[in-house]
Amino acid sequence: MPLSPDQLAEIEELRASPRQTLRAVSEGMEAHLYRAHDVLDHGFVRVIDYMGDDAAICQAARVSYGKGTKSVQNDAGLIRYLMRHWHSTPFEMCEVKLHVKLPVFVARQWIRHRTANVNEYSARYSILDREFYIPEPEQLAAQSVINNQGRGAALTDAESARVLDILKSDAAQCYDHYAEMIGTEGADGAEKQGLARELARMNLPSNIYTQWYWKVDLHNLFHFLRLRADAHAQYEIRVYADAIAKVVADWVPAAYGAFEDYRMGGETLSAQALDCVRRMVKGEAVTQETSGMSKGEWREFEEVIG
Ligand SMILES: Cc1cc2nc3c(=O)[nH]c(=O)nc-3n(C[C@H](O)[C@H](O)[C@H](O)COP(=O)(O)OP(=O)(O)OC[C@H]3O[C@@H](n4cnc5c(N)ncnc54)[C@H](O)[C@@H]3O)c2cc1C
Repeated sequence: MPLSPDQLAEIEELRASPRQTLRAVSEGMEAHLYRAHDVLDHGFVRVIDYMGDDAAICQAARVSYGKGTKSVQNDAGLIRYLMRHWHSTPFEMCEVKLHVKLPVFVARQWIRHRTANVNEYSARYSILDREFYIPEPEQLAAQSVINNQGRGAALTDAESARVLDILKSDAAQCYDHYAEMIGTEGADGAEKQGLARELARMNLPSNIYTQWYWKVDLHNLFHFLRLRADAHAQYEIRVYADAIAKVVADWVPAAYGAFEDYRMGGETLSAQALDCVRRMVKGEAVTQETSGMSKGEWREFEEVIG
């Protein structure tokens, strides 16, 4: 379980003392505030704070003096218009601050999204917990033969059992050595200096868990979700993006609906691909050879048009 009883009690205490506010409140998001959503074996995502709701997007788009809301239907239409036409700044008026616990190798992919504010748990100051991501056996797959950047067939039971053994024993041994290096009591019980935490941590594998606070506006969060909740993203970051997506759907349902429709469910076509679609609609049997596209482009185009 990722959170201890003490941490859960702290969260419940925070939730037990609501205060009145004049600020915009999203009922859907209030239900998530502070609560942890489990991800992977020890990770989680939880909302620490947020600003704005669907109405705030419309308020900014209309540069309104008051609420800026006409009607829910009207607002949803405006939000879809903004999304459709890449008028993105109104979405930047909404922000969310998340507390995320994640393996270091996932954090390395995540941190590439530069348009967020991050503060990470300090392994110079604190001692890291003995918590490592150990995949479920069904996640253990061979290198893909068609996509250099992905997984292919599942490992056999015997191979996956061996891999799990290696992952667990390496993690345990590295952590034992980490603890030994920073420890101030020698094997003989005599006091020793102990290595600084900032140096001892270099021995830890990248499946150890780290934590951070991550604050981002809705426009850039959608960009993150578009890339990381996508089937091409690595499973271990995708499950975090999926957990965040569910929270966002409750926070700003109209904006999320538009995002799902235009970005997650939609596709961008090149001029060449669009030309092929037009020719196909007119009844022409377009092939890769007559399309002007490369084999790779044609394969992806066929996937898009089904
Ligand atoms: C499936 C997948 C595979 C990937 N593989 C690799 C890989 O092999 N190697 C690798 O290094 N990365 C890889 N990445 C990371 C990828 O290249 C991006 O760094 C990452 O997705 C963050 O995207 P971003 O820069 O658009 O996001 P953000 O950093 O959030 O930026 C959002 C947008 O702001 C603008 N922006 C932000 N900062 C700058 C800047 N300094 N200059 C100009 N414009 C800026 C850009 O328009 C950008 O799109 C991969 C990502 C995915 C999703």
